[in-house]
Amino acid sequence: MQYVVVGHGTAGQTAAAVLKKVDPDSDVYVLEKGKYVSNHPCSLPAVVGGRLSLEALEKTAPKGRINIILEAEAYKIDTEKKEVYFNKEGSSDSLYYDKLILTTGLRPVFPRIEGMGLDGVGTVWDIDTVKRLLNMLGNKVAVVGGSATGIEVAAELAKTGREVILIEALEQLMPGKLDPPISSMIARTLTKMGVKVMLKTRMEKLEGSGGKLSYVVTNSGKIEADTAIVVIGAKPNSDLALRSGLVIGETGAVKVDEYLYTSDPNILAAGDVAEVRDFVTGHPTATGLASTAVVQGRIAAENVSGTNIKYKGALSPYIVPVGDYWFGGVGLSASKADKLGMDYLAFRFAGSDLPRYMPGRDTFITWLITDRRGKILGAQLFGRRGVRERILFLTAAIYAGFRVQDVRLMEFAYQPELCDLLDPITITAEGMSRKYRLL
Ligand SMILES: Cc1cc2nc3c(=O)[nH]c(=O)nc-3n(C[C@H](O)[C@H](O)[C@H](O)COP(=O)(O)OP(=O)(O)OC[C@H]3O[C@@H](n4cnc5c(N)ncnc54)[C@H](O)[C@@H]3O)c2cc1C
Repeated sequence: MQYVVVGHGTAGQTAAAVLKKVDPDSDVYVLEKGKYVSNHPCSLPAVVGGRLSLEALEKTAPKGRINIILEAEAYKIDTEKKEVYFNKEGSSDSLYYDKLILTTGLRPVFPRIEGMGLDGVGTVWDIDTVKRLLNMLGNKVAVVGGSATGIEVAAELAKTGREVILIEALEQLMPGKLDPPISSMIARTLTKMGVKVMLKTRMEKLEGSGGKLSYVVTNSGKIEADTAIVVIGAKPNSDLALRSGLVIGETGAVKVDEYLYTSDPNILAAGDVAEVRDFVTGHPTATGLASTAVVQGRIAAENVSGTNIKYKGALSPYIVPVGDYWFGGVGLSASKADKLGMDYLAFRFAGSDLPRYMPGRDTFITWLITDRRGKILGAQLFGRRGVRERILFLTAAIYAGFRVQDVRLMEFAYQPELCDLLDPITITAEGMSRKYRLL
């Protein structure tokens, strides 16, 4: 068997490694258009904040007998001949495949406005964009886009003592993904860290002098800045699939079935470029998360080598640092439910993360979404400690179909230096069960 994986990001690396494990005698080729064996985008905000070196990321090459062809950009797949064509060093070449896994990810989008080419304007996307950014990073930084990356980068730069402004066009941070109880906590935390958070502020153009950025011009006025970091979103990198005749879904990502097969029986897609079903709503979604891409990469690899594993849908659990705090979520948000016209119950509990007598105790916010009968559909959390462990539990709870009436009676490991005796999840589940008479 000869497998070709296109793209060596999170899903591609996973797929290639799993292919070699489940089918050790196969030939596995990976075409990667970039020049790095590994990119690790999730660690880039820490590099921007100076806590991690780019060299550390560049050196983490995966091990294994996989033929990785770098700086090889696939531009067409001939699905009849089962050949993938790619450009490398100015000339074209091709590879035969028995099965191909497409993992071309997303690409960042930038506004078509005046001044985007000025020195001082950059983004945080991959090793090269961060290298460029680090070379021009000044002291007055405007982060444009209240996305997870925008929030993380703004907090990182504030910690270095720079003057940071975070600009978001809509009325809250991470609109559509986060609900107000959590997004307001993030805005408050950033503000306490010295970040000026400007909501309902749209960047209209960038002004400079001598080719260098001096102002970000917005609908709320001019902001003086020597650096603008534009992180306003990304879209599926599905051009190759489109050019090769594969069906593209309504999200712009490559449509796959529940086994991650595209419209071609020899091609699967995984990761950000794949349009899968949302676990909770069943609607088409393309997630933009490494946590999801790694699972899809594994399933795609196992399925091409003969297994039939159904992908159950994306729950999209995530966690993001903001200064000394963390926020995270999983599943359905109330804002998404509203948009889809779904019926739901929501409950917010603001408590603390440690017992009353413990030094260093801090606020912990739990926001839970259930259906009318108490079945957990989504959650968002904010706190200094214990966010990830609760996101892990809630992810499993949604998969398993747990109801808050059951969760309120579950036992959770306790130690006063780590948590309070009654866990915030227990209290939230209890409060919700009583408020909505679910008992
Ligand atoms: C700054 C930043 C921080 C993030 N932090 C987190 C986090 O903390 N947690 C989390 O879960 N997610 C995070 N993400 C998202 C996460 O990185 C992605 O969702 C994940 O990497 C998606 O994996 P993928 O394999 O689908 O795509 P990618 O990892 O983007 O890989 C796609 C690869 O395909 C290559 N490629 C594209 N087109 C071609 C072609 N035609 N030929 C050959 N190669 C091609 C690209 O060069 C790339 O290497 C972050 C993303 C960014 C940008």
